[in-house]
Amino acid sequence: MSASFRIGRIFGIPIALNWSLVVTAVGLTALLAYQAIPLYAPETSDTIRFGAAFGAVVAFFVSVLAHELGHAVLALHNDIRVERISLWILGGVAEMNRRADNAKAEFQVAIAGPVVSLAMAALFGSATIIAHAFGAGLLVLNLLLWLAFINLTLALFNMIPAAPLDGGKVLTAWLWRNGGDAESARITGGRAGLAFAVLLVVVAFVDLFWFRRSMALMLAAVGVYLGFAARGEIAAAVIRQRLTATTAGEVMVGHPQSVPDTTTVAQLDHLEHLAGEPVARPVTRWSPEPLGFVVAGAIMIEESARTYTQVHEVMTTPDQVLRISDESSVLDIIDNWVTNESQIAIVINNSGVMTGTITGDQVRDLLVMPNLWGRTKSNKETDQASLNRPGRGRLSGTAQSLTSNLRVGRDAKLIEMAASRTD
Ligand SMILES: [Zn+2]
Repeated sequence: MSASFRIGRIFGIPIALNWSLVVTAVGLTALLAYQAIPLYAPETSDTIRFGAAFGAVVAFFVSVLAHELGHAVLALHNDIRVERISLWILGGVAEMNRRADNAKAEFQVAIAGPVVSLAMAALFGSATIIAHAFGAGLLVLNLLLWLAFINLTLALFNMIPAAPLDGGKVLTAWLWRNGGDAESARITGGRAGLAFAVLLVVVAFVDLFWFRRSMALMLAAVGVYLGFAARGEIAAAVIRQRLTATTAGEVMVGHPQSVPDTTTVAQLDHLEHLAGEPVARPVTRWSPEPLGFVVAGAIMIEESARTYTQVHEVMTTPDQVLRISDESSVLDIIDNWVTNESQIAIVINNSGVMTGTITGDQVRDLLVMPNLWGRTKSNKETDQASLNRPGRGRLSGTAQSLTSNLRVGRDAKLIEMAASRTD
């Protein structure tokens, strides 16, 4: 989705067009001009034919944009920021900065798109009747009717209860209201989406090989796209569920060994090697009050400089680290880390005493992608064992290899992005 260009703003929201839209525009214009229009207006000139077809295609894109604006307006109404609306080959996306925090908002944002599409269908339908009353030609009448039909299709297709389609979000909101747990509802919605995506691809293949219709390829593309998007919905919900259920106290490294400010980075590396896992350590001088915090693996200096650079030269100062209560969820920590580059958290208990530290390494197991259906691949017993071991980071071989090259902040951003997409 990076090959986009901005065309302007509506309600302060940037509108972006993807280059793939050009393919749709050309294809659809040609289809209308060569195949559809000659059926009911065979005597028209090429100029009129192409002009009318192109006009109808533009009206179609405006319809898709109106659908997305429907979502966007209700999102803004619910205090959810809309980063941008982009139109691409398979429709539109309103990218939001976060998910709805109650079932009502989830429902309102989801239903708004199909409602707008239904209104557009009614609008084009009425326009057809009015144009007919004024004696408009078949060309105009058919294009208006086509626009009414396409908006109706947009509304109905999006109402299929399969996330990330709008109907899937409506289903999610309904389950959420009746079951109480947002993420479980989203996992169910995503699974319905996955099942529907598989169905679409199967139908597309039957259509392609049995009836030999090339439009089936478009259907297959929609199916594949929906499948990946549904997978993203499920994964984001599972990860958020884990992050919400785990507290800072459970993942922190309790009372990490502090280091004197004159310790060299090489000595720190050695300490970390002995500890077997990356730990945020307090840096002290004379008093127990930390001057700052250091994580060996996060110090990016030349190998040779590690032997003479002292930790106080490269440490993170106390005002740059996040202070959180041991009751806070890991989700709170990661949300803060997205805007805070240090990615160190100090855990404070309810008496105001520092009891441990957390870095990306202590939470990365919680960010492991679950499988297609939303289950975590790692062994259940190992999971249980680490849950019963408060104060230690949870490290398992598989998880480490899967996430070692993902920085936590970026990972969280990815989850957030996957989580806040509406079709
Ligand atoms: Zn929609």
